[in-house]
Amino acid sequence: MSKLTREGRLEVMRQFVDKYCFPTLERKGKDYDGEKRGDHFEWAVIPERGVDRYVVLWVHLSKQLFALFTWMRTRELASEPLESRIKDIINYCLILVSMLVEDGVIKLDLLDVPTCFGCARLRMLDVKEPDEWEWTDGKWLCPDCFDGSRDDPG
Ligand SMILES: [Zn+2]
Repeated sequence: MSKLTREGRLEVMRQFVDKYCFPTLERKGKDYDGEKRGDHFEWAVIPERGVDRYVVLWVHLSKQLFALFTWMRTRELASEPLESRIKDIINYCLILVSMLVEDGVIKLDLLDVPTCFGCARLRMLDVKEPDEWEWTDGKWLCPDCFDGSRDDPG
């Protein structure tokens, strides 16, 4: 067994996310989060049973986690290669992050993400009217805050 250096370990992690995780996340029509079935697990939501999109995500994530645990105990895997299962686990967690940002549960200090100067709303969350945002005096204003500033006589 040969051990990675600290730098080597970080490089393996970075390349795994770049080469395995992101290409799958970006590919449309994939099992999770695809265009075919709708975004963010909403295709499987059953409100009357308390199954929201977080629960749907957990069902998919836990399936991969249990398969990983089986490998850890037995060194045996059924059907999918180990790297594919680990990739899915990471990707489900990344999708979870995006859902939590959408729902305002977590706030991230994201780089280069346009945010309204008036109300701190993220422009990327404004799926209906991103084109109606105004860029004035080096600041973004959402439609609500821009209308407000226009009505202001001062
Ligand atoms: Zn605003």
